[in-house]
Amino acid sequence: MSNRLNEQIDKAADSVIKFGNICALTGAGISVESGIPPFRGQGGIWDKFDPFEYAHIDSFMKNPAKVWDVLLKEMKQTLDKAKPSKAHMALVDLESLGLLKTVITQNIDGLHQASGSNDVIEFHGNFANLSCLSCDKAFKMSEIDIRSMPPKCSCGGYIRPNCVFFGENIPFEALQRSHEAAVSCKIMLVIGTSATVQPAASIPITAKKSGAIIIEINPEKTALSSGISDIFIQGRASIIMTDLLKAIKL
Ligand code: NAD
Repeated sequence: MSNRLNEQIDKAADSVIKFGNICALTGAGISVESGIPPFRGQGGIWDKFDPFEYAHIDSFMKNPAKVWDVLLKEMKQTLDKAKPSKAHMALVDLESLGLLKTVITQNIDGLHQASGSNDVIEFHGNFANLSCLSCDKAFKMSEIDIRSMPPKCSCGGYIRPNCVFFGENIPFEALQRSHEAAVSCKIMLVIGTSATVQPAASIPITAKKSGAIIIEINPEKTALSSGISDIFIQGRASIIMTDLLKAIKL
């Protein structure tokens, strides 16, 4: 590991030890090592699909069969196999040490809960829960058979995953709780987000304005890295989080 990287990790560990009270904001990058590709960046899903063709609510309403067949079916197959990574586990360890309170995630994969984090705000909903567009009946993703696409309710309505599509509002409770977490934390740990999807991308800015130290972990620089992040640690989430945890426990 380079001296510069070691220095950044030590600096982050010192801040965590001194202030505690961490809120983590995670994005698709934290789940890359769980086998789920991100939207943007290397190997991103948007290299294969046009987001506005497949992830906008208008596209889904216009042609649910197409969106299920091309994007959602593949997503279900990928998420069914995914397991929490060392980075998810490190956040659970930080919680056990009494240093981390809340995880705000943009991810819809449920991996923070699967790893054992207790307070998770799902900013963009969860792919595991679905509902009928006509009668609102609830379903679990495990009940969905990918051999008959698109999935339909017994009432004849199309079934949708309860994640937030582009063009939809963020659930009010998630917005409110995230704001509270951002203004009350002393450290915001921003892991694996390109910080391009609003309003999630503004959460670190809110935290910073309220006096929090922003620690960012990402293999690539983002819009936050130079102006907003106080400590930018360049690298993969599992490696950096493992090293950060080691440095905190020293
Ligand atoms: P994004 O796809 O826009 O950006 C991913 C970021 O992760 C990039 O900055 C990339 O450099 C970084 N990254 C790649 N590999 C990494 C690694 N090993 N460790 C740490 N960082 C890594 O993702 P986003 O900012 O979360 O926003 C896009 C939207 O995509 C979110 O709203 C989310 O709902 C959705 N999404 C979710 C999942 C999931 O649930 N796992 C997967 C893809 C997209």
